[in-house]
Amino acid sequence: MKRPPLNSRLAAFGTTIFAEMSALAVSTGSVNLGQGFPDTDGPDRIAEAAVRAIRDGRGNQYPPGPGVPELRTAVADHQRERYGLVYDPDTEVLVTAGATEAIAAALLALVEPGDEVIALEPYYDSYAACIAMAGGTRVPVTLRPHGDRFVLDLDELRDAVTDRTRLILLNTPHNPTGTVLTREELAAIAALAVERDLLVVTDEVYEHLVFDTAEHLPIATFPGMRERTVTISSAGKTFSFTGWKVGWVTATPELITAVRSAKQYLTYVSAGPFQYAVAEALRLPDTYFTGLRDDLRAKRDLLADGLAQAGFAVFRPQGTYFLTTDIRPLGESDGIAFCRALPERCGVVAIPHAVFYDHREQGAPFVRFAFCKRTEVLQDAVKRLASL
Ligand SMILES: *Cc1c(COP(=O)(O)O)cnc(C)c1O
Repeated sequence: MKRPPLNSRLAAFGTTIFAEMSALAVSTGSVNLGQGFPDTDGPDRIAEAAVRAIRDGRGNQYPPGPGVPELRTAVADHQRERYGLVYDPDTEVLVTAGATEAIAAALLALVEPGDEVIALEPYYDSYAACIAMAGGTRVPVTLRPHGDRFVLDLDELRDAVTDRTRLILLNTPHNPTGTVLTREELAAIAALAVERDLLVVTDEVYEHLVFDTAEHLPIATFPGMRERTVTISSAGKTFSFTGWKVGWVTATPELITAVRSAKQYLTYVSAGPFQYAVAEALRLPDTYFTGLRDDLRAKRDLLADGLAQAGFAVFRPQGTYFLTTDIRPLGESDGIAFCRALPERCGVVAIPHAVFYDHREQGAPFVRFAFCKRTEVLQDAVKRLASL
């Protein structure tokens, strides 16, 4: 008898481009603007809060399944104060091992084999794998450049909905394009979800990283959406502690119960002491959040200007800490080949968009750079890119 192939549902998801590019960065001594994590840690007083929790014996043993009450209350307060969204910390908030686990648990809980899941392409890399693990079929709706931003074609989204569609998986602010969905776009998505009775799972991990006149609006605030939306966020990007892996979900008791039933067999619980520290972080004064934004906006502009001067077409992002470029003005069209050669050519590592698409050709000329790095690192990268 023939053994079935190993890991067949995930066969397409081998090693990621990130591993390849990080290895290239090391072997060539390049500036690594591929990986999306900060090269400085978050606030000292929050790190101290984690140390204190460990020393005081808070969270060193399995914390409660839904998360420690201090963090659930802080999340509920955050949603109410920032967005006017009222959630009961006892029944409508769930703490997870980062947004990554929240996404996996939500999809495993809510998607039945054969269900279709609409997701914005280019995708964050875990979405396609999690939809596959849930036995779902992914249906991409592609964000396309229009003027200076990548935009969602609302007609295409509407046409993508079928009788098998179970949910729409949203991500705003959007990695990798830097697009922040507008009030009009979100209203249209919400109206469609209500009309077709769809769930929405929304990944809002960059909710605090929005620039200029852009505004982050949770889709759960739109009419008819609170009862059908699973909102996901996490501490990693907002507080520059990506290694702590503290995330959370807010939704109705029924949806939280479903997501929790999957979550309890993934990690059960995680990050006990860090949960207490993140509860404190969520209560940092507004100056922390505006300071983070201002710092990243200056870094965005430094890198965007440098890339433009080096000949790239730059989509200056409205949110996230990623910046997308089009390499065609450089006489290039294949982002994968370009990114493989870039470390040798000028000592900088970036990520080709193509890996985030089902239809790779759609993403071929686009390349993503991360700007969540120290100013001197970005200045060094800009100098290197000028030699292109
Ligand atoms: C970084 C990232 C995540 C993962 O968040 P964690 O809290 O580190 O698990 C999820 N979604 C998007 C879009 C991200 O960029």
